[in-house]
Amino acid sequence: MPGYEIFGEEEKKEIMAVLDTGVLFRYEFGAQRKGVYKVLEFEKKFAAYCGTSYGQAVTSGTVALKVALAALGVGPGDEVITQGFTFVATWEAILDIGAIPVFTEVDATLNMDPVDLEKKITERTRCIIPVHMLGAQARIQEIVAIAKRHGIPVLEDTAQATGARINGRHLGTFGDCGTFSFDAVKTMTTGEGGMIITANEELWRTMSEYHDHGHDHVVNPGARGGEGRRFIGFNYRMMEIQGAIGIAQLAKLDSMIEAQKKTKTALKEAASAIPGVKFRELVDEAGDSATFCCFFLESGEHCQRVNKVLAENNAGAINFGDNTWHFYPRWEHLLAGSTVTKSGWPFLEPGGRRRIMYDPELLPASVELISRTLVYPIPVKMTEERLAELTAALGQAAKA
Ligand SMILES: *Cc1c(COP(=O)(O)O)cnc(C)c1O
Repeated sequence: MPGYEIFGEEEKKEIMAVLDTGVLFRYEFGAQRKGVYKVLEFEKKFAAYCGTSYGQAVTSGTVALKVALAALGVGPGDEVITQGFTFVATWEAILDIGAIPVFTEVDATLNMDPVDLEKKITERTRCIIPVHMLGAQARIQEIVAIAKRHGIPVLEDTAQATGARINGRHLGTFGDCGTFSFDAVKTMTTGEGGMIITANEELWRTMSEYHDHGHDHVVNPGARGGEGRRFIGFNYRMMEIQGAIGIAQLAKLDSMIEAQKKTKTALKEAASAIPGVKFRELVDEAGDSATFCCFFLESGEHCQRVNKVLAENNAGAINFGDNTWHFYPRWEHLLAGSTVTKSGWPFLEPGGRRRIMYDPELLPASVELISRTLVYPIPVKMTEERLAELTAALGQAAKA
């Protein structure tokens, strides 16, 4: 799963090309940088890899979501629909922009349930954020079709599925834009970092300016420092060393995915011996990035019984029902409306009236499904010994 497993000479060479110029900033320093623009090069290569026109690098996947929401014009008074099984970053970005997150159930794809999505659209819905969790596809074509009918833009949170596709078309290119994360545990990593891709030039231009204090990014008299601004912005700029690492990691991405796929096939084969097991539904198996192997047992009780045997054999799997990072009922700070602001924002309005309230029982179908789901993260490099240990443990679990 994480690209740090394969750091090598390629990353060092790219980083040294930056240090040799001494320019760590992505803009300016024309003469000194000797034509080295690593962040710009990374943006172009990443967009081309995904088969789209524009890439906008930023400091994290969380910020990528926020910049995309800002460029789509989302703000206070708006609702944004996402799924109840994701990383907290998805809804942090929605709250940070001033909008209200609305959560859907997940289905057997472990991603947004399009039937529940349709029920949660209101006249205030301004964006839909399906998340391609655990390396594989949401039902993005169905979701985009629903969104089109209602005239709502779609932002794909592709943080966990870089390189995944449907029929050869990259995730992140089905909606109006797609966001990616290159944090320390993602498939390809720049330590911290993120990217937004889009085919829409105007949307890209807005993101580009917003992420750099609103600077208009046209050639001005007086160069940088002489810009005008169409709107206020912030600083979410990626630095050159991150761009350099990104270029080296991107070149290895497809081979990382291939390695993971081999391991996943072996794990699936071993797990299929467990009576009653079903695998996570994949919209396109060939396009799975294979960063995780997910399977469903018959009940929560069956799931715990199987995982106990796996754990006894040094092969315990993750049950996301126990995980506080990724699942709605475990987000105590969201459910309680905990915030550092004295006014209570974003959960309270100025004046103290409650503006957001979440019901812990909101997503019963997801709770039922997640309670009987087991997940193995798949490393890029898996030793034969470890794989043999896992498959043997799954063989033991099949008898439990
Ligand atoms: C990792 C992640 C993010 C946030 O990315 P960072 O780069 O860590 O800020 C957003 N969404 C999902 C689904 C993630 O897994």
